[in-house]
Amino acid sequence: MAASAEVSGVTMDKLVSLCKRRGFIFQSSEIYGGLSSAWDYGPLGVELKKRIQNFWWKEMTQLNDNIVGIDAAIMMHPKVWEASGHVENFTDPLVDCKKCKQRFRADQIPKENLEKHICPECGGELTDPRQFNLMFKTHMGPVENDASVIYLRPETAQGIYVNFKNVLQTSRLKIPFGIAQVGKAFRNEITTKNFIFRTCEFEQMEMQYFVYPPEDEKWFEFWKEKRFNYYKTLGVREKKLRFHQHGPNELAHYAKKAFDIEYEFPFGWKELEGIHNRTDYDLKRHMEFSGKDLTYLDDQSRERYIPYIIETSAGLTRTVLVVLSDAYDEEEVAGEKRVVLRFHPDLAPITAAVFPLVKKDGLAELAKNIEKDLRKHFTTFYDQGGAIGRRYRRQDEVGTPFCITVDYQTKEDNTVTLRFRDSMEQIRIPVKEIPARIKKESAEYRRKE
Ligand code: ATP
Repeated sequence: MAASAEVSGVTMDKLVSLCKRRGFIFQSSEIYGGLSSAWDYGPLGVELKKRIQNFWWKEMTQLNDNIVGIDAAIMMHPKVWEASGHVENFTDPLVDCKKCKQRFRADQIPKENLEKHICPECGGELTDPRQFNLMFKTHMGPVENDASVIYLRPETAQGIYVNFKNVLQTSRLKIPFGIAQVGKAFRNEITTKNFIFRTCEFEQMEMQYFVYPPEDEKWFEFWKEKRFNYYKTLGVREKKLRFHQHGPNELAHYAKKAFDIEYEFPFGWKELEGIHNRTDYDLKRHMEFSGKDLTYLDDQSRERYIPYIIETSAGLTRTVLVVLSDAYDEEEVAGEKRVVLRFHPDLAPITAAVFPLVKKDGLAELAKNIEKDLRKHFTTFYDQGGAIGRRYRRQDEVGTPFCITVDYQTKEDNTVTLRFRDSMEQIRIPVKEIPARIKKESAEYRRKE
């Protein structure tokens, strides 16, 4: 194994450039100069995002016998957003610079600028803060009047609450139970920067857990710990994760208690997921506004009550950034820089790449056949171009955990070289053992710090 040494870590510039160069993430509408803060997922990015989503979905629904999924519409009855409090409360305080016309979130600029009414960019005069609602408004149907106003959902949670009774009646679940959902959400964010960290269109993975009110604290603690541990299973380094408890001034209008799981991004510690005790706020409000009964009857105790909700709310697109930032690594190998994405094998967009050592003497055909067989098990990639070392490096850079090289010996004894991304170690194994070996290595994968 070649000697290696760490040379430097991740920066946003390196990440954004790698994502574009290798087809993870592109600027939206790039040929028209780009739409700011909107991003498209390329061939490798969409695979990564789907794998993260599947990992979460399995963790929530398959591994828990009391959590089921739904997929609610993005567009909902406008009354939903009155009941949820979003029409009234989902606002950010904004200030405008009268000189350079830039707009800022008042809570995100230095206090002294705000006190002196001075623009942090140009020193011009700032307006007083105004509350700005973050929901995207549009009209349904041909007539643009107040009666036709609808909103693009700013969170996926409400689609779960309004379906609480439907799910309860059709699934015959008993409290405590959960409903999970993954989907797009939209917020008219003013300060969108840092790549896909904060965008106007994004995806959430939310699970709402309905509990007996006196047990809210117990379930809150349960989910708080479980969600933290989940990120470790996902392969994220523990030293990059921490909790942040919301103080009284930070709590959302519906929350009794809230903890964020934060990740240390290249631009600092920021929220990745929120765990909230939403009490009976949402179901109570929907009962009031819809006039429908959303209570739960405990058939043992005959007690009827409005369940409390413990919410785990994670950003899918934000998790993509976490996984990319956390995986990015550079090291020096034999005097050259090696860029490697150390994804957990279950998340890597390509699981195995297959190379013939040379194209001639039937090795290319042999390698193609091996690759074709492996497609039944994994996402694979075939590459016969360039020196073998360069082919390995190209796969390291997109995080492919396993490379298989077919050489002259393969023709004789049907064995190949299996090379591991992280250690660069190579072993010789029979072709028929490849799938089982890769599955075993993936299941036992532990990232070295
Ligand atoms: P902030 O205070 O940073 O605006 P928030 O506390 O309002 O965020 P939540 O409403 O709790 O965020 O949303 C839950 C999760 O959804 C967040 O932890 C984050 O991962 C994701 N998320 C929220 N807003 C965005 C956004 N604009 N872009 C990408 N992901 C987002």
